[in-house]
Amino acid sequence: MKDETVIAEAMNQQVRIHCARSTDMVSAAQKAHDSAAACTAALGRTLTVTGLLASDLKQKEEHVRVRISGGGPIGRIICEGDGAGNVRGFGENMNIYASRPDGHLDVGKVVGTEGTLQVSRDMGLKEPFTGTVELVSGEIGEDFARYFAVSEQTPSVVSVGVLVNTDSSVLAAGGLIIQLLPGAQEETISALEEMVKTMRPMTEYMQEGMEAEELILHLFPDARILGHRQLRWHCDCSRERFSDAMMTLRKEDIASMIEEDHGAEIVCQFCQRKYVFSEEDLREILEKRLHVEDRNRTS
Ligand SMILES: [Zn+2]
Repeated sequence: MKDETVIAEAMNQQVRIHCARSTDMVSAAQKAHDSAAACTAALGRTLTVTGLLASDLKQKEEHVRVRISGGGPIGRIICEGDGAGNVRGFGENMNIYASRPDGHLDVGKVVGTEGTLQVSRDMGLKEPFTGTVELVSGEIGEDFARYFAVSEQTPSVVSVGVLVNTDSSVLAAGGLIIQLLPGAQEETISALEEMVKTMRPMTEYMQEGMEAEELILHLFPDARILGHRQLRWHCDCSRERFSDAMMTLRKEDIASMIEEDHGAEIVCQFCQRKYVFSEEDLREILEKRLHVEDRNRTS
């Protein structure tokens, strides 16, 4: 069973469906961040919807960026997806525990409800399309449903879930976005409402081993599958990128890293990979930095 996103049409082409199995992707995110269960669910749900949004991108280089700041203890959640199916993301504090009296993870509590959800779609146009809405519950699914309704004028049902084991590992994850296309008829709307009432939580379908396409056909027997794309956790950070980023620092700051800290350790926020720069490396960067400055002065 593999992670992937699937796009389909159903109910006489009046409904559009995006569905993802994202168990491996969320599991890789959990390992990278060594996150506590409720944070894994918050980040995993956001990563999954980001992957679903990115499945609409036509080119590999195009990006979707999601930012949620709800005022809760997890801090900001930022996720990015590209047109090749790569997704990465983080929450600022990934070790917060929160569960409800019934034992369910309290995602709304770690995310918070006082804040916004922002989506930026960079589809190769001059300006990325950006929409922002107030959060509804911090439970992610409802918040995205509101985003689609308000910001993109598309009535949508969003179901997204992450099931976490008692040892913090990820058992199952998946997401589904069902959207009414413009001009949908009354009878389609009521048929869809009836169907949605019969839907079970995403994690149940995923845990039973259903593929994304299988689930679409299970819910919409008349669905026509429009496309499949792989979905994977991948961060494209590198030593070169961080070294280039350091070149933009003030030279006094680089000098103090050399004199006082005798080196620097940079952690990628998205994937937690560590990059160590020795005193020697930093001297090289400083030299290059001074060189660029000289060149700019003389030109
Ligand atoms: Zn990274």
